[in-house]
Amino acid sequence: MDTESLVIRDVSLTYEQVPVIQNLSLALKPQELGCLLGPSGCGKSTLLRAIAGFQPLNSGEIWLDDHLLASPSHATPPESRGVGMVFQDIALFPHLSVAENIAFGLGDWPLETRQARVDELLHLIGLSGMESRYPHELSGGQQQRIALARAMAPKPKLLLLDEPFSGLDTELRGRLASEVRTILKSDGICSLLVTHDQREAFDFADRIAVIHEGHICQFDTPYQLYHEPHSPFVAHFVGPGEMVDAVVEGPRSVSSPLGVLSNDQDLAFAPGTPVNLFLRPDDLIHDDDSTYQATLVGKHFRGAHHLYEVRLDNGVVLGCFAPSHHNHAIGERIGVKLDVEHLVVFPAR
Ligand code: ADP
Ligand code: MG
Repeated sequence: MDTESLVIRDVSLTYEQVPVIQNLSLALKPQELGCLLGPSGCGKSTLLRAIAGFQPLNSGEIWLDDHLLASPSHATPPESRGVGMVFQDIALFPHLSVAENIAFGLGDWPLETRQARVDELLHLIGLSGMESRYPHELSGGQQQRIALARAMAPKPKLLLLDEPFSGLDTELRGRLASEVRTILKSDGICSLLVTHDQREAFDFADRIAVIHEGHICQFDTPYQLYHEPHSPFVAHFVGPGEMVDAVVEGPRSVSSPLGVLSNDQDLAFAPGTPVNLFLRPDDLIHDDDSTYQATLVGKHFRGAHHLYEVRLDNGVVLGCFAPSHHNHAIGERIGVKLDVEHLVVFPAR
């Protein structure tokens, strides 16, 4: 049997009788890096607070490594849960050095073990040699890594990260999310990250729970969320794409404005069913020899390629990648073709 570390079972949370989270269930495996991804205000921080012990449960249970942390009739005190937390606002103690900040939660550890843990973490976060510096002598990214080390220091069973990178600039954000992933993986700490940023979620997590209006729409790997979304909401939320009208032709094929496409497995719709086919920019390629033409209406240089926006004759505008030396002008008719193995289809709206 698959063991589980964090188990959230049928949890509901409310503020003054207003439901925020409803019957939400989620489980993380030991050492797994999970993510709650959803729009601002959907209840992510509220759920993290319930796991940490700062928000009472209206129903359900939260377990960590086979210990009941919370239910409507039980609440383990936050400090006894073995749960660490890192927030968006970096709250390092300004009057303490880097080493003292990291060691802050290790007061009852023997001096030698404490020193060794600090050294180990400094090495892990790539800041060895900076132990005597003070927070104001560090960049934002370095401060955030210290905050992470401080939360990891007491070896929590679970680390909660609430939008820890959102105060940083975009480039640094992406880099830190993957760096922190590497650090947590090498220390083997099970973690749950909260973010509204899909790229950050992809850079960080093994599996991502997409949350919408208080419930989980889908809990899957980044690959599955991107290529096999279970709902239009998830499809749109995890990356760009558009719906086109199509009709199911056979068990594995649909006919679309860009020709008949076949799927790698049986479709969930009977032949003749009108459907919406979801297409991402990487599904459509520019090909001068294609029999299908579209009008170039937008163009974004992305270095290795152009992201074109092309308008089909039925009016739908789709994204389309083209090699960067294929420099067509806006308004030109260009050849396009679909290159899709797995079709993403939803009932026609
Ligand atoms: P997220 O972290 O996904 O942005 P939150 O969990 O912070 O969302 O908030 C979820 C909802 O609960 C929001 O509608 C928010 O306005 C509301 N909310 C958050 N904190 C409180 C509070 N202390 N009292 C009442 N309502 C709150
Ligand atoms: Mg929040």
